Amino acid sequence: MTENSNDYSAFTEDDWKAKLSPEEFYVLRQAGTEPAGVGEYTNTTTEGIYRCRACGAELFRSTEKFDAHCGWPAFFSPLAGDAIIEREDRSHGMVRTEVLCANCESHLGHVFAGEGFDTPTDLRYCINSISMTLDERK
Ligand SMILES: [Zn+2]
Repeated sequence: MTENSNDYSAFTEDDWKAKLSPEEFYVLRQAGTEPAGVGEYTNTTTEGIYRCRACGAELFRSTEKFDAHCGWPAFFSPLAGDAIIEREDRSHGMVRTEVLCANCESHLGHVFAGEGFDTPTDLRYCINSISMTLDERK
């Protein structure tokens, strides 16, 4: 691996383990879920851009974050449609849509549609705090 490489497809499991904390590795690379209500950004209203904690790619903006009272940060749309990948997730006996970073394919969370939230998209991108870092706008 060369330093500053953006080609995360070449990252091995050991590369990720070296780069991430055990908690980050569990969520980002093993599609884990942080417990509800404990994430550092659950109730954050600070303005800024949320980036992928694994690779730094811009994912969501604070102006599209809303309070879904679900215990995790919720956004009604991603920063750009191509910032994320959505794919079907049939784990845990449910059919859900998994949300991954398009740049490094790390797990971010899930997206739920049609729940009746009063937002422009009626989508809820339910994202683990530990999958993101907030780039504050001052
Ligand atoms: Zn990423």
